[in-house]
This record gives sequence, structure tokens and C-alpha cells, in this order.
Amino acid sequence: MEVDITTLIENTANYGFLAEWGLSILVEVDGVRILMDTGLSFSAVHNAHLMGIDLSTIDRIVLSHGHADHTGGLQEVLKIRGEVEVIAHPDIWAAKHVRRDQERVRYNGIPFSREELESRGARFKLTKEPVHITEHAMTTGEIPMVSGYEEIENNLLVKEAGVLHPDPLADDLALIIDTDFGLVVILGCAHRGIVNTARHAQNLTGKELVYAAIGGTHLFRASEERLERTVADLREMGIQRLGVSHCTGFRASARLAQEFEDAFFLNNAGTRLTLP
Ligand SMILES: [Zn+2]
Ligand SMILES: [Zn+2]
Repeated sequence: MEVDITTLIENTANYGFLAEWGLSILVEVDGVRILMDTGLSFSAVHNAHLMGIDLSTIDRIVLSHGHADHTGGLQEVLKIRGEVEVIAHPDIWAAKHVRRDQERVRYNGIPFSREELESRGARFKLTKEPVHITEHAMTTGEIPMVSGYEEIENNLLVKEAGVLHPDPLADDLALIIDTDFGLVVILGCAHRGIVNTARHAQNLTGKELVYAAIGGTHLFRASEERLERTVADLREMGIQRLGVSHCTGFRASARLAQEFEDAFFLNNAGTRLTLP
């Protein structure tokens, strides 16, 4: 079996494509086209057009979490697709905020109302549980925090009754492709940790080998200790393709590139690959 992965938008871009702070990845498996996230704005749709990808033919949308840089392009995609199932965790609708510094806190959630998106064709399937999409593809559902060293950043907040609290990012999920060559894990931001995400994928499928992890790893502010432990755990999982994007950051990317050598690549806008 094969899995086709096309990155429509990312913080950096291949020749001719747009880049923006955000992520959108199209996964094709079992003859089904799954769009994971939609970037921050119109750029994912623009790049898809450049690549000759017809977004009116996507079968499902999965939202990795409710932050604007993954959901802001949803309306543009729906304008092309019309009615489509959108799989996500119910907490995507929490009032997400981000603290820039002592004074500046801004809204960082979905920049549309649910009604607006539903009127454009979004059919939300909101659940904390994993969702089986095809014979080989499923979402993780809510990801348990088990590694002991991965933490959610404390500047990510949620507003409840006018008060800001730390956001547990319970909505953070990933896409798992359970292939005959190992697990392929497609990450949004991995706010709950790349290792927690991969461990959960192992538990859900009963498979040990994590063949590939592709997408955001949220290591851009990771401590030295977290980085080293992440490297050790990914090694133990047998990772053979590590395509980092988005919130991985330069320092973590450099460390992972040094460690994983040819298995490592920068997964940016315009990247197309077929696994294995
Ligand atoms: Zn995020
Ligand atoms: Zn993000």
C-alpha cells in the first residue's frame, strides 16, 4: 500500500508557493482524500490550485485543534468543497487565546462562528474518541499526557466566563495511517507532545514501529532536556522518515537533522511524497 502526502501550506515554501504561519496537509490513502487542517488564510487553497489539486474532491476534513493557524483557511476550502464532514475534538470551540507578553493577549481560536461554517457546508463530527476514516486511517482522538517530560506551553490560554486559564489543548489530535510498513503519524502542532502522540498511536493500533512522523512538532521553545529525550524516544520507535514543519523551530530542526540524517527533511509548502 501507498500513502500520498502533500503539504499545502507551511511556514516556509518550495519554489513558487506561498508560505504562512500555519499548516495544511492533504493525505491520500485507500482512495480517500483527507485534508488535515487548512492553514491561516487563503494560502492553502492558492497552493493547491498551483499544484493542480482539486479541493472539491476531498472526502473529509480533520482539524488537529482549534488554533487559527490550522482553521483559518476553512471557509476558503468550504467555498470550493461545499458539504463535507469535519472531524475534530469538541474543545476546538473553546475561546482560545495566546499571551504575547505581560500586556498583550489576543484571540487565537477559530476565526469563524460554527453557524457560518455550517452554512458553507461543514458537517462537524465532534468527538474525544478516535475516528476510523478508512481501513487504514484514523484520528487519535484525545491524546493522554504520558511521557512525563512533554508539557503544554503556558502562554496558550482559554477564556471561560471572562477569565483566562491555561489551555489543556485537549483538542490536540493527529492522524494515524496504519500501514504494512509501520505507522505514519501526521501531526498538526503536537501541542500534547510528539512522543505522547506517537505512543498513543502505538497503543491504539497495537503496532510498535513508527515509520514516519510528519508535521508540526511544537519544539520551538523546548528545553535541552526535552529535546534530547524526544530524540531518544523517536529513535526507540524506529522512525525512518521525520518531516518536521511549522512550530518545530530552527534549533530543534537542526538538532533533529543532525541526529536523524537522511531520515530527516523539512516538510514545507509544496512538498509531495509517497510512502514508503
Ligand atoms: Zn496550535
Ligand atoms: Zn500551529
